[in-house]
Amino acid sequence: MSEVQAIVRENIRNLHPYQPGKPIEEVEREIGISGVIKIASNENPLGPSPKAIVAATEAVLTGNLYPDGSAFYLRRAVSEFHDVDSERLVFGAGCNEVIQMLISAFCVPGQDQVLSHKYAFISYRVQTLAHGCEFVESDVTDVLGCDVDALLAKVTPRTKLIFVANPNNPTGAHLEREDLEKLLNGVPDHAIVVIDEAYHEFATVSYPDYPKSQDYAQDRPRLVTLRTFSKAFGLAGFRVGFGICSTEVAGYLNRLRRPFNANAIAQEAARAALGDTEHVERSTALVKAEIAKYRAAASDIGVVAYPSLGNFLLLDVRRPSEEVYTALLHQGIIVRPMASWGLKTHLRFSVGTAEQNDKAIAALKLVLA
Ligand SMILES: *Cc1c(COP(=O)(O)O)cnc(C)c1O
Repeated sequence: MSEVQAIVRENIRNLHPYQPGKPIEEVEREIGISGVIKIASNENPLGPSPKAIVAATEAVLTGNLYPDGSAFYLRRAVSEFHDVDSERLVFGAGCNEVIQMLISAFCVPGQDQVLSHKYAFISYRVQTLAHGCEFVESDVTDVLGCDVDALLAKVTPRTKLIFVANPNNPTGAHLEREDLEKLLNGVPDHAIVVIDEAYHEFATVSYPDYPKSQDYAQDRPRLVTLRTFSKAFGLAGFRVGFGICSTEVAGYLNRLRRPFNANAIAQEAARAALGDTEHVERSTALVKAEIAKYRAAASDIGVVAYPSLGNFLLLDVRRPSEEVYTALLHQGIIVRPMASWGLKTHLRFSVGTAEQNDKAIAALKLVLA
């Protein structure tokens, strides 16, 4: 064991290093082709809202100044947009940071447990283990979604946080209203329940019965809803997301929040994006149409497409997905292999532009033929 290895905290030593996807330019150089399409990170293929681009460009000019530490204008805009009290909002550099704040605020290392289900958003597990807490996973439904009964059966006196993404990434599965109600009603008094709605803009458009957790916020001080500007708003690179909490929970999270965590340019971009409903509508309409197209194509090719309310689709290609992933890469298509989740024949396709999706579908047909 090296000297550094000997002194790093054991829970950090045992974490798997994150393997980021390669930048498009690097893949093009390695394979020797141009025009590579990356549909691997659930990004918005239409780009940021044009209004956000203008606002961000303007904000660059005052980049010598620290951001507004309380995100005053963004807070007011989000508060009006979602009709929630501004004291209930906590902003982060993406909602990944809010996840981290929740774990830091509520979980005692070496003692408490964080609960989610198998194939959940990877960040819940990684950040829990990095913090030195135990991560507990329940079994899933046949479409790899949260089985609420199985989840609640895993609650112990040590459970402090319960994370469920609705819809879930990477599987796309969602909770029906009765599932969400059962979950919220089953949370023990000693736990916070976090409903991660990173994809709710797509979900509400593709599924009118999609249940929003904030409809249940009344008298539930231990409910937290996560939202982000990374997906439908197209601002993943800016890093801004937020939690809608009870005033009490928000108060604690804001105590431990790093100063100036949501940067000034991101705050302005997000505020402008919020006012650009047309861009969100174009983005969600694109996803709805293109998911239908992928689904039809999957059925043609004979691969299994899982249900999805997000801007991505999980496919079971019924052969080792690493091979299919590599073959697609050589066709200039980068998708997300799911082997590290234990899904050895699955790939996740993010929805790109119509043209990108056509190319991805054609490449998949070719590769599987
Ligand atoms: C993309 C995603 C997020 C958003 O993370 P940011 O840090 O806001 O970019 C959160 N939860 C889930 C389930 C996601 O897929």
